[in-house]
Amino acid sequence: MRYNHILLSVLIFTSFFATGQNQIKVTSDFPGGNIVVSRIEGDTVWLEPNLSFTQGKWFYWYFKVSGISGKTVRFQFNENNLFAKYGPAYSINNDETWKWYGENRVENNSFTYTFSPQDTVAYFSVAFPYTEKNLYTFLGNLRNKEALMIDTLCFSPGNRTVEKITIPALKPDPQLKVLITARHHACEMMVGYVLEGMITSLLNDKNLETLRENIEFVIVPFMDKDGVENGEQGKNRIPRDHNRDYDENSVHLSTAALKKFVPTWSEKKLKLALDLHCPWIKGENNEDIYLVGSSNKQIEKNQVIFSQLLEKNSLGEIKSFHHNFLSFGTSWNTGSNYSQGISFAGWASELDGISLATTIEYPYANISGSMVTKDNSSIYGKAIMYSIMDFFFLSDLKPMNH
Ligand SMILES: [Zn+2]
Repeated sequence: MRYNHILLSVLIFTSFFATGQNQIKVTSDFPGGNIVVSRIEGDTVWLEPNLSFTQGKWFYWYFKVSGISGKTVRFQFNENNLFAKYGPAYSINNDETWKWYGENRVENNSFTYTFSPQDTVAYFSVAFPYTEKNLYTFLGNLRNKEALMIDTLCFSPGNRTVEKITIPALKPDPQLKVLITARHHACEMMVGYVLEGMITSLLNDKNLETLRENIEFVIVPFMDKDGVENGEQGKNRIPRDHNRDYDENSVHLSTAALKKFVPTWSEKKLKLALDLHCPWIKGENNEDIYLVGSSNKQIEKNQVIFSQLLEKNSLGEIKSFHHNFLSFGTSWNTGSNYSQGISFAGWASELDGISLATTIEYPYANISGSMVTKDNSSIYGKAIMYSIMDFFFLSDLKPMNH
């Protein structure tokens, strides 16, 4: 009897650990997930970003870890340059609120986290993930959401919907149109929160009524939808990424579809095309908001106006400064950077009737000394909308009745 008891206890004990109830387990089989686990020994996990389909190194990663209750776990990465200024971002026990772990938490490409006995699952990422689920949660809670229409730009190779959101002008027959795109580079997640602020303010801000009345907006939130959902880097995608795919023969379905749709939709009324990006992970030029100067002088002139308006209107924690404007021919912004193919902004600059086509680079974690959050990114999105309205008033296009 006693022998049986002991045997039973041993069986329960071994099966408990063997089935992994309390074994550390790292996964990425969820939307946006990205990790390669090299090995797990004791309470240390060795990992690296999954660079599939990517030319060279990049820094996007996002994983789930379980079997952590009451443990202090060390996460050891194999490379430099995988963390932004405030260390990893994290969410414990399926809390939707992402936080930065904090400055100086990363040592020798590793960080350590002590989980409480109540903690069962945690997510860590290079920044705050933003996938299709975030978009639909946002749209579901959006005030005045009936003002926008969601349809399909095209289906992705993975048979996902590439959403096209139209916000028609309140007045009939608008003479101005604006196009906004994001996630040509799948990993550039933080712009999702900026876009939320843009849409929220456009639909609800009292001072933006003139914009609502007179301008039709089309927004494509995920140009590389499969990349976003599959957790791919997207940047420097092989053979070329979505933002180098605006030559005559596009290799990606969404860029081909956008190139086909826009000229017909525009009717020469598309005046402003904006493409949201995040820069490299940290350091000089990557911790300030900036516009990427065009080689087209007329476009560049309008970019300078817009860049100054962004400075004037960014009144929240997140500020942009015109002195960070990246003129064509400086830093990485040279002809050789576009040897693989034309970018969205390059293509849009040539559209009939366009006044301003530009990339905005929005850093992941640190913007001119301020820590990036979901809320202050959303407030910066509102500043972009105010700048769009000001731009139309300042430029020669005065179709808006004020
Ligand atoms: Zn980008």
